[in-house]
Amino acid sequence: MFIDTHAHLDFPELRPNLESVLSNARLAKIRNIITIGIDATTNHAALEIATQHEQVYASVGWHPHEADKAGVDLEQHIRNFSSNPKVVALGEAGLDYYRHRSSRENQRSVFARMVNLAVDLDKPLIVHCREAFSDTVAIIHQEGRGKVRGVFHCFSGTLEELKQVLDLDFMISYTGNITYKNSTLLPIVKATPVERLLLETDCPFMTPVPNRGKRNEPAFVPLVAAKIAEIKRLSIEDVARITRFNTHRLFGIGEAPQNTFVYPIRNSIYIALTSRCTNACVFCPRSIQPVVKGHYIGMRASEEPTAEQVITALGDPTRYDEAVFCGFGEPTMRFETLLQVARWLKSQGVTVRLDTNGQGNLINERNIVPEMTGLIDSVSISLNEHRSDLYQALVHSDFGEAAFQAVLDFARECVQFLPETTLSVVTYPGVDVEAARQMALSIGANFRVREYNEVG
Ligand code: SF4
Ligand SMILES: [Zn+2]
Ligand SMILES: [Zn+2]
Repeated sequence: MFIDTHAHLDFPELRPNLESVLSNARLAKIRNIITIGIDATTNHAALEIATQHEQVYASVGWHPHEADKAGVDLEQHIRNFSSNPKVVALGEAGLDYYRHRSSRENQRSVFARMVNLAVDLDKPLIVHCREAFSDTVAIIHQEGRGKVRGVFHCFSGTLEELKQVLDLDFMISYTGNITYKNSTLLPIVKATPVERLLLETDCPFMTPVPNRGKRNEPAFVPLVAAKIAEIKRLSIEDVARITRFNTHRLFGIGEAPQNTFVYPIRNSIYIALTSRCTNACVFCPRSIQPVVKGHYIGMRASEEPTAEQVITALGDPTRYDEAVFCGFGEPTMRFETLLQVARWLKSQGVTVRLDTNGQGNLINERNIVPEMTGLIDSVSISLNEHRSDLYQALVHSDFGEAAFQAVLDFARECVQFLPETTLSVVTYPGVDVEAARQMALSIGANFRVREYNEVG
């Protein structure tokens, strides 16, 4: 199921055929659509459509093209809509110095008023920005005072601009233009953390390939999702789930993800046995938001699953390429359960991987690696740094500076006993990736660099 977070269902290209447009959307598994107002008439039309159709929500705004027509009653006009439960956002609003249909001065003034309204009414803001990036960001900073949240829709900026949007804590949404052959947006999409991504069509415009030339409609949003999946090396189901969750976070539409301990990503099945960990890594998101790729995997110690519960939840594990013990917690803290589940997985002929902080021998007060022989096919150990003091500054292990040497010893044992051992570092600012690489290679392990902003 997908959500189209930006459509103009009231536009003349779509409204006369609205019922068939919405039934096409249902057939294409579009669960919800946010239809966007751009001025007084379209704001009323958007809410009317949302009121008449359960799956449609509305956003009320004032587009920069229409800025010259905004009156003194703009605030009252927007406020009149804001208590309606079907109105989930303000916008679109922003600056457009490309088409320049209203004066820059009026655009800036109207946008500033919309940002203030978003703060006052505590609604997310849908931002339209074209060739006006620095002014747009300046107004959000100045008028938003750190209290405005929202999305840059139909994003088409540079990497540096992307970084600024991320620093503002805004989301990013992409349209069908990322599917175009000459699109320069691929590296930008790649650099966008999936936790910040939303899907949109911006229909009736921006029709994605292979329907380019036709009128766009919400039913085409899976084509945008498929392109993102290709760029981010995820499955389309992953992109659908992740963006549903992001949409829920920003606009409150749909349901929050349910707690789970067995969760698919790409064609792998992941298993979270615990949320406890002997580290408190500076980059670990588990305490803020234990969500990985749209799956909520946080659990209290009393909620940790038994081996039987994990096996039942796995169903037929041969559907997947591999099973991975992972989660926001250290799997070897539940080593007996891990072995039981791994034994069952191997009896089913499944490839088994362990992602670990490498402190399993300290945790279990013995060398556990020989016990994994024949049960774990590959192990991925977070090395994080190449020196004990730097490691401890990053991970804050319960075992203090002794932890680093123990991780290296554990890794050496894994190289000796298990078919494949990989040491990894996260590209956290200041980490000496090359020194860590040399260390990994010197003990005979593989080496992998993980992006700081990518979890799971
Ligand atoms: S080792 Fe993993 S789970 Fe533990 S604190 Fe670090 S990032 Fe989080
Ligand atoms: Zn727009
Ligand atoms: Zn639009």
